[in-house]
Amino acid sequence: MTRRISIFGVTGSIGQSTVDLIKRDQDTYDVIALSGGRNIAQLAQDAIDLKAEIAVTAFEELLPDLRAALKGSGVVAAAGEVALLEAADRPTDWCMSAIVGLAGLAPGMRALRHGGVLALANKESLVSAGPMIMAEAAKYGATILPVDSEHSAIFQALTGEPRDAVERVIITASGGAFRDWPLDELKYATLAQASSHPNWDMGQRITIDSASMFNKAMEVIEAKEFFKFKPAQIEVLIHPQSLIHAMIGYNDGGLMAHVGPADMRHAIGFALHWPDRKHLPVERLDFARIGAFEFRAPCDTRYPALRLAREVMNTGGLSGAAFTAAKDAVLDAFIAGRCGFMDMAGMVEDVLTRITRTSDHNAPMTLENIRLTDHLAQKYAADTLTARAS
Ligand code: NAD
Ligand code: MG
Repeated sequence: MTRRISIFGVTGSIGQSTVDLIKRDQDTYDVIALSGGRNIAQLAQDAIDLKAEIAVTAFEELLPDLRAALKGSGVVAAAGEVALLEAADRPTDWCMSAIVGLAGLAPGMRALRHGGVLALANKESLVSAGPMIMAEAAKYGATILPVDSEHSAIFQALTGEPRDAVERVIITASGGAFRDWPLDELKYATLAQASSHPNWDMGQRITIDSASMFNKAMEVIEAKEFFKFKPAQIEVLIHPQSLIHAMIGYNDGGLMAHVGPADMRHAIGFALHWPDRKHLPVERLDFARIGAFEFRAPCDTRYPALRLAREVMNTGGLSGAAFTAAKDAVLDAFIAGRCGFMDMAGMVEDVLTRITRTSDHNAPMTLENIRLTDHLAQKYAADTLTARAS
């Protein structure tokens, strides 16, 4: 029997890796909806190759281009936020949520209503709306499978083990581009230097977030929300090889570590084939050649984002939404050359302080309040940037 699948954010890095896996086994899938952004040529090509029912671009002004690219193919062209939600309403058995940013939250929430599997790559969903998205999945009997190497690793290391025996979870981090830089030189780090990752081949934003460990901070919050760990149970460990993705420590002192190549197709493929395991086209590790695994503790001065993640976990409510929005705003500022690399964490902290001081984080967690918090945090980040520049 074929499985009905949709991929939101198909033109991105995760989306393209998903397409790569689907194409190897195309007859077993019935592709329903694909969504993209500005890369119309890629979106149309994938929709035609995968014989999708509908292709949606997030941007309404691009509808004529998408229509032209799909002419004669039989694939329906659509555009805009509402069209995206309507596409997510088309029933599926498996759906990939790989839009970047808060824009990924609403389509993911809608896809959960089918009661199938939501493969969740979109980090912002869990960080800004963890309790809401988990409740929605429970309400509709849907399964969320994490598509991040660390969270897929945790999921795999927990399988078959008693949950009440879990003592701690260790999430590994490569340490990013600057892990070996002298601390006092970090403030001079340039955009080009922050944009190269030692192990993973990813987009520019997530690569810079790895260097600052904002990415790891998001992942720590995600782990708390998804697996319901207590904040104190979650540890971050620098592991420069990026081959152990996470470890679960049990109450008998034993640890289950997940080891795998630094290739997102493992986590995507695991979610695609779960609960089975199927052959995946990823590297088979040669430990004799790798030789050694190294570990070191992350330093809070070098990686202030990790401390902020703890604050967000303790504050709860809408502070996660404020955190991701502020993080994205200061990342934009760094990319635009408007602030230094080490200024980013301080500015996010300013936003969090303002949000908690005014109790803006205490409003009920709804899609609307999350969007409001997102706007508010962006505004506060802009204020902070202006204040610091003057
Ligand atoms: P990407 O930037 O490569 O792709 C993002 C996708 O979202 C594209 O298809 C783009 O067209 C679409 N998009 C952008 N803005 C949009 C909008 N406003 N509305 C609708 N669609 C929009 O991103 P990526 O690296 O593939 O990451 C996707 C998500 O997965 C992110 O949340 C990221 O944090 C997470 N993630 C990525 C990786 C990785 O290795 N790349 C690993 C783990 C988690
Ligand atoms: Mg990760």
